[in-house]
Amino acid sequence: MTTAEIAAKLDAHDPLAPARDRFLLPAGTVYLDGNSLGALPAKVARTVGHTITKQWGEDLITSWFRGGWLRLPLTVGDRIGRLLGAGPGQTVVGDTTSVQLFNALIAAARLRPGRRVLLMDAGGFPTDRYLAASAARLLGLELREAPMDRFAEAVRAAGDQLAVATASAVDFRTGELWDLAGLTRATHDAGGVVVWDLSHATGAVPLALDRDGIDFAVGCSYKFLSGGPGAPAYGYVARRHHDRLDHPLTGWHGHADPFAMEPSYRPADGIARYRSGTPHILSLVALDAALDAFCDVEPEQIRAKSLSLSAFFIDCVDEHLAGRGFDVVTPREPQRRGSQVTLRHKDAEELMATLIERGFIGDVRPPNLLRFGLNALYVSHADVLATVRELHALT
Ligand SMILES: *Cc1c(COP(=O)(O)O)cnc(C)c1O
Repeated sequence: MTTAEIAAKLDAHDPLAPARDRFLLPAGTVYLDGNSLGALPAKVARTVGHTITKQWGEDLITSWFRGGWLRLPLTVGDRIGRLLGAGPGQTVVGDTTSVQLFNALIAAARLRPGRRVLLMDAGGFPTDRYLAASAARLLGLELREAPMDRFAEAVRAAGDQLAVATASAVDFRTGELWDLAGLTRATHDAGGVVVWDLSHATGAVPLALDRDGIDFAVGCSYKFLSGGPGAPAYGYVARRHHDRLDHPLTGWHGHADPFAMEPSYRPADGIARYRSGTPHILSLVALDAALDAFCDVEPEQIRAKSLSLSAFFIDCVDEHLAGRGFDVVTPREPQRRGSQVTLRHKDAEELMATLIERGFIGDVRPPNLLRFGLNALYVSHADVLATVRELHALT
């Protein structure tokens, strides 16, 4: 069979094909950058419009209580929790991933007083590295770093000095998926606490935070979750830590009784204390509407489609781009892949600029990586083949 026949067959048997209609994609565009900014879900504009005209415009301040605004960080948190493999009452939504990560690192370290090592992923996303360095400085911890393929070794080497280990579940450059359960177990064996950044995993790979015993997790909701530009991030804290959870940003929304206006801080029970200030309602409402795209979809279905797309992408590269200077950087073993394909090419920047002009949108990470994000809800095998063919025409 030709790759065109294979694409047609795979798309004809794709149970997620109807989900594409839940997104507004411009005609003539192949969108493979949903791992950076998810496409616009069709419901968002209407829902946000209603919040503005009805709730804000007419109901005014009563919307905080009667309209449910105050509880949105928790209700939207539980909806994301379903995609994290987290039972209700452990996930909160608000602020940025950077802020959520800072909170998680500090709160995690406070659970392990006396231990002096903060271990981070050497290839991590820049903001994660910058924040880990600042958290270590603030707490007087020694910052160590290790590449992910030697992370478990570094955890064991830190031994009883390990306070916190932090890493990303999926490498943002290569798309490699790491062994969350195994590395969490290794961290616990050393007596440490783990903080995972799930930005490139949530909505793309099945997660089991409760089952895997993960302590803390954070992540973006504007990538695979399609929550919109600057959509608020999420933070997960395992229930067993709630009673001792010492949140660094003790804002009034984490207080046991915010509207009593007490002079001193008293934390709320449970995950509710893991909030800080007034939530970004318009962005939360957009994210809440965006999550409807996932409502009848199981993470395993997303995984099956995503792996089918990335395997097909790699097959097409092998078949159509051999000898044209491309290397497949993303692992070929399915269990090691997230939901993107990364190609190395010496002219990455120029190639991507031309691709985008022609309606095929991916992105570039310096110095020479072309990234193609594969959102199983709206990308087809035909999209993948068309992109590879365009690369063929350009090289
Ligand atoms: C996208 C991404 C971020 C972005 O953080 P913001 O605070 O939303 O800017 C952080 N960490 C990782 C791993 C990411 O992939």
